[in-house]
Amino acid sequence: MTPEDTMKLLVTLRSRGVTDARVLEAMEATDRAAFVSDTFTIRAYEDVPLPIASGQTVSQPSVVGRMTQALGVEPRDKVLEVGTGTGYQAAILSKLARRIYTVERHRALTRLAREVHAKLGLTNVTQITGDGSHGLPEQAPFDRILVTAAAEDPPGPLLAQLRIGGSMVVPVGVSDAMQMLIKVTRSDHGYDYDELGPVRFVPLVEGVEHD
Ligand code: SAH
Repeated sequence: MTPEDTMKLLVTLRSRGVTDARVLEAMEATDRAAFVSDTFTIRAYEDVPLPIASGQTVSQPSVVGRMTQALGVEPRDKVLEVGTGTGYQAAILSKLARRIYTVERHRALTRLAREVHAKLGLTNVTQITGDGSHGLPEQAPFDRILVTAAAEDPPGPLLAQLRIGGSMVVPVGVSDAMQMLIKVTRSDHGYDYDELGPVRFVPLVEGVEHD
């Protein structure tokens, strides 16, 4: 990433609502080119989703920034991400929190993400192949949960695996055109829901692909 690439990306992120200094710093330190194939290196710093293996996409930087900011990660947090892709979002979270577990339903992508994270020397991320809508009961509870695929409703197992005082950011909605980013906060007496704005994600799909 050249200094010009970094500057351009930071200007774009700020203009699209990413203002948290820690989030901007983590994104500046995470070269998105590492998460796309060589064909797309040249476009890695554009604020658009780009194709990755298994017919999926690496998220748009400004969306990753806004979701990370909304999640309000603390340095001591244990975080669950659902929908690893090639691991861009997880790499950014790894710089902001103590421990990251990321679950992906395409085995080929889990492998890719593991390779990239190893190459970048990120040692606090665990990549798991599985259906992330069931969460990761053996590691629960989580301080924060970030879902990067759209669910019909916030999945029950994920709500249950949120620590009291913890929060989850999840795109909700079935159609492509109508999804709302929701922040769910768990308190002693239940769950509070905040709408953060419209988004567009691939759907949360059941089961695992051994590709
Ligand atoms: N977080 C990624 C974006 C990935 S796109 C990034 O940083 O770029 C969404 C991903 O969610 C896809 O890779 C898709 O395969 C995955 N996905 C969809 N349904 C899933 C499920 N039930 N469990 C785990 N991963 C799922």
